[in-house]
Amino acid sequence: MNTFEYAPAPESRAIVDIKPSYGLFVGGEFVDGHGRSFKTISPSTEEVLSEVAEADETDVDLAVKAARRAHSRVWGRMPGKERAKYLFRIARIIQERGRELAVLESIDNGKPIKETRDVDVPIAAAHFFYYAGWADKLKYSGHGTESLGVAGQVIPWNFPLLMLSWKIAPALACGNTVVLKPAETTPLTALLFAEICQQADLPPGVVNIITGAGDTGRTLVSHPDVDKVAFTGSTEVGRAIAKSVAGSDKRVTLELGGKAANIVFDDAPLDQAVEGIVNGIFFNQGHVCCAGSRLLVQESVADEVLGRLKRRMGTLRVGDPLDKNTDVGAINSAEQLAKIRRLSQIGEQEGAERWSAPCDLPDHGFWFPPTVFTGVTQAHRIAREEIFGPVLSVLTFRTPGEAVEKANNTPYGLSAGVWTEKGSRILKVANALRAGVVWANTFNKFDPTSPFGGYKESGYGREGGRHGLEAYLR
Ligand code: NAP
Ligand code: MG
Repeated sequence: MNTFEYAPAPESRAIVDIKPSYGLFVGGEFVDGHGRSFKTISPSTEEVLSEVAEADETDVDLAVKAARRAHSRVWGRMPGKERAKYLFRIARIIQERGRELAVLESIDNGKPIKETRDVDVPIAAAHFFYYAGWADKLKYSGHGTESLGVAGQVIPWNFPLLMLSWKIAPALACGNTVVLKPAETTPLTALLFAEICQQADLPPGVVNIITGAGDTGRTLVSHPDVDKVAFTGSTEVGRAIAKSVAGSDKRVTLELGGKAANIVFDDAPLDQAVEGIVNGIFFNQGHVCCAGSRLLVQESVADEVLGRLKRRMGTLRVGDPLDKNTDVGAINSAEQLAKIRRLSQIGEQEGAERWSAPCDLPDHGFWFPPTVFTGVTQAHRIAREEIFGPVLSVLTFRTPGEAVEKANNTPYGLSAGVWTEKGSRILKVANALRAGVVWANTFNKFDPTSPFGGYKESGYGREGGRHGLEAYLR
């Protein structure tokens, strides 16, 4: 339990100007859609924020046409060093308007302001800076120099602005134009990004933002004039997309789900490991594809680690995303909350023991307390399925071999963590893990120079670094 109280320190909302309704961003302008519209809400209060256009088939087609024109007439022909100037400009505007983006993201998504301010927005800007640097050096990339054409990009709701940057920055640097669909529950920062494109004088049609839900995404990725599909989201939808593009000559990259093991050996510095476990699963409410959602702790220190972990979880502050003290914000949607509750119930029915941090949850909005399950076995669904919420499953092991075997016993392979004093053990274990990213004595560290992506059902292709250029060049 908290031993002392904190005075609330909410960030002001005054900096953002949320319009009552938004159209689609096509050909450099906001235009009315031909379809219906939908509401986006703040998941921490359930307040309706705005009414957003839902792009239908006609709209998707217009957006793809705008992107095609911009590619063949302007962007695909522009020298790399000229394209770079636009990317640098966008990066600088993201920094200049950083507070606005951070507040808007927290309101629309429910994530804490300290994360949007210190993680999402700075890394989004860093991606544009990084890929701006590549635009005139593509001949050194090892992946060709020619753009593909029009990229259709679909992203999820957990890191709306950051996933947008991961998608748009490398595509533009390589000379492609894009049509991007943000997630239904988090369209607002993508629409603010559209304004940033206008402010940067980006040629019309180079970036098109079409809002909508799953149908809009499906229409976009199956549009015959899209050359490249880039998707981040669930393995289930990823599979459907892979099927729908099979047999076409579209290029595809899929960044899908994960069920990462965070492995703690008995020689690890335990307080640091506990911070890493907390960061691994409670960062962004656990809505993280690479979340350390399975804790594998060596049996000899399991009680010690769990005791310290529960004490630390009791100090996490859950609540108002705009409060600078907040550690854990709101669950992104009623639907996601229902999924977390359902899987947690299954965990209890399967015989695992549940412990939730004692915290007062707000009356409105979607909330779930930081939760840990002990006595979990590998056959349990909570050890196998992605919960995508603030829920940790704890398993134990005796030997390094057993740790690796359990860590790899998953259909996913996105990330993993290793905690030990021994450098040699880090290398040995990391090499044996079938995961795209392995962090040692840290977790959830991201940098635009470093490639990110999965093995197995976590998808294929890499984003970030020189590797990230491959998906957008021939
Ligand atoms: P999702 O349901 O797969 O949705 C992702 C995006 O695809 C959304 O924009 C969604 O639209 C759209 N969509 C839905 N059905 C579609 C279809 N048939 N064709 C084309 N697009 C379609 O995933 P989510 O629940 O939003 O996101 C969570 C998942 O993303 C988790 O599994 C997580 O692990 C994964 N993720 C992976 C990475 C990575 O880099 N590997 C990063 C972040 C998240 P609407 O939601 O608007 O309806
Ligand atoms: Mg929302």
